Amino acid sequence: MTDFKELVELAKKISMTSSRNEKIDLVSAFLKNLPEDEVRYAVLFLLGKTLPPGDERRLDVNWRALLSVLKRMTGADGERLYDVLVQAVDIGDGFKKALEKFGSKRQSFLFEQKLTIKEVGSYYDKIASSRGAKSRKLKEELLFSLFSLADTDEAEFLARNLTGEMRIGLHEGLMEDAIAKAFQIPARLVRRAVMLSGDISVVALKAKKGGVKALDNIRIEVFRPLKPMLATDADSIEEVLKELKRASFEYKLDGIRLQMHAKNGKVRAFTRRLSDVTESLPDVVDQFSEIFGNKEVVADGEAIAVSPEGKPLPFQFVSRRLRRKSDIARSVKEIPLRLFLFDILHIDGRMLIDEPYSKRRKLLEDLVDNEWLVPARVCESEEEVKSFLQDALDKGHEGLIAKKLDSAYTPGVRGKNWFKIKPVLATLDLVIVAAERGYGRRHKWLSDYYLAARDEETGTFFVVGKTFKGLTDQEFEMMTQRLKELAYYDDGHLVKVRPSIVVEVAFNEIQKSPKYESGLALRFARIVSIREDKTPEEAETLQNLRKLYEKQFLHKGKIGK
Ligand code: AMP
Repeated sequence: MTDFKELVELAKKISMTSSRNEKIDLVSAFLKNLPEDEVRYAVLFLLGKTLPPGDERRLDVNWRALLSVLKRMTGADGERLYDVLVQAVDIGDGFKKALEKFGSKRQSFLFEQKLTIKEVGSYYDKIASSRGAKSRKLKEELLFSLFSLADTDEAEFLARNLTGEMRIGLHEGLMEDAIAKAFQIPARLVRRAVMLSGDISVVALKAKKGGVKALDNIRIEVFRPLKPMLATDADSIEEVLKELKRASFEYKLDGIRLQMHAKNGKVRAFTRRLSDVTESLPDVVDQFSEIFGNKEVVADGEAIAVSPEGKPLPFQFVSRRLRRKSDIARSVKEIPLRLFLFDILHIDGRMLIDEPYSKRRKLLEDLVDNEWLVPARVCESEEEVKSFLQDALDKGHEGLIAKKLDSAYTPGVRGKNWFKIKPVLATLDLVIVAAERGYGRRHKWLSDYYLAARDEETGTFFVVGKTFKGLTDQEFEMMTQRLKELAYYDDGHLVKVRPSIVVEVAFNEIQKSPKYESGLALRFARIVSIREDKTPEEAETLQNLRKLYEKQFLHKGKIGK
């Protein structure tokens, strides 16, 4: 068994070097010497994860839970603790600083007991498994006993790991190289094994146990999801045609990406984050069974919400469907989903991902009725693409995805084989009315902004969205200064400011939302520019935003009000 401390020290060394090779050397030497039953844990923890990707459970450990553990450990009251925490870079640093300053009340006999990597893994497992009415209390007890076994450095690591803020500069690509080096396997083979299995920790363990041969044997397995292939944003149709020449253009549907698996009449559906959502989607499951019957198949597609007339509904309906955990039958009735397929990765024991797109598409067309397929057209001129894009928009879809005809399906890769083409949406000029202090690298700035529109009638500003995206470091710096000068309320986290600064904001969609008093919320808001030339009185009005919201439905279907 390996002391957890060794992993913590390794992480520290990794974060201290910027050299790729050094990081790879450090990790590979560590993995080589690790007992088999600790390999998966070490790989996951170093990558900032607590559970393997296929695990449906969540630890659900938030700041508040950690804070109450910290209070109990140090015996410090909230205020004194808070003074230390505001100066910390992140929660891990906060733990370390607080424990150093106030000491730990852990019982002295525990100092003798060393925490091992395996123990941390089993604590995480227990935390993730605690369910039911008392689960919060139980989780806190488990956390308290875990942290009681940890010294300050270990506590720092655990707090970061638990809140997903590891940031030691080790991403999956480097981990793949480290596995390759540790077990003398070509990096190409490791990457492919990760693609096919979707779980780098399993690949590391297989590599350790069985080397090249073990990785060579990894295939697509039905009911084990792969990461989906992704598309790159394109600036223009021209750019896409320049890159791909002649390509297939498919409608881009705005719903939920689903990887559908079926075998022996059983069907499962996975999201792009590899979560199993089968139980929430009985209608989609039925559709897939209808399409493929008893075949063994893995296919890729998008499910969208449809109105009673069969028109696509905005994304927010799909997400409402997915959030609903009880009375699924009712929500299926209220918001029916419809599956559209665009790729096939595996059929009756045959793996298809290395076949070219055109061949996969042809196979799909041979197997499946047109009504279940995302419409596609091969185009080579700008006119053809424009007219197909217009078709897609007229039918209420989001845009197009261009696909290179001879490209393989590369799981998890966002490359130059698929491009997204979306019409440019108008931007909105909105006013910053509040800001929050950022986390991690952004802790020194007010970097999370509340964006507001003006009510024409009263002149009051109403929040319609929030973003931390779009500014450069320099702009954050400057914005922080200016907002501090405009502040009239500050609780250490949230700062409210007089409406004064206008920013131009891009977004993907306007949604109805109870989150803000305005009743509206922008989806994927990001700041495009700071409008020094505009006063808050010239900012977008709430009334106009409501009109824009309605306009979105021109081509889309509508249900409810
Ligand atoms: P984005 O979410 O903006 O990164 O766009 C990529 C997403 O578009 C994918 O993850 C799919 O969910 C979705 N999508 C819609 N239609 C298609 C299509 N025909 N091919 C691939 N992805 C599609």
